[in-house]
Amino acid sequence: MPPTDDDAFWMQRALTLARNGKNSRGGGPIGCVILLDGKVVGEAHNEVSADHDPTAHAETTAIRRACAALGRDDLRGATLYSTLQPCGMCSMASIWTSIGRVVYGAGRPDVHRMYFECRSLNLDDILADAYRDDIRFTVGVLREECAALYYGPGDAPPLEEQANI
Ligand SMILES: [Zn+2]
Repeated sequence: MPPTDDDAFWMQRALTLARNGKNSRGGGPIGCVILLDGKVVGEAHNEVSADHDPTAHAETTAIRRACAALGRDDLRGATLYSTLQPCGMCSMASIWTSIGRVVYGAGRPDVHRMYFECRSLNLDDILADAYRDDIRFTVGVLREECAALYYGPGDAPPLEEQANI
């Protein structure tokens, strides 16, 4: 679906989280904000290295925090903002959490493949194939600003940073 008037504002907040992650010890440059009824209910940057937890992506961490804060297992009606297209794990987590809408900034064509786990499956296909048909997504909100946080498609990142190989 097309962006709403508020999407850039919340993506800006996700960008701030991503920059904090990039500058923090053990953090990664991906930011996620979860909004429900106009309020932030969970937010995070990537904490994989900080926690030695490969599942601690920004999105899964924000989902855990939102559910814990609300004392419930689903986030029906919530919108998840991520600076980068969610990976397969986070796409599935969004489905299992019944999130209503996913909004992301940079997409697969904008960044190096090191940020994704496989060649062709992506959030758009995973959501389209889900049993749920009420989950919507919006792509490319502040795309250039978000993409600037990541290695580009033609870059050669150091091997030790490439967690997907
Ligand atoms: Zn992920």
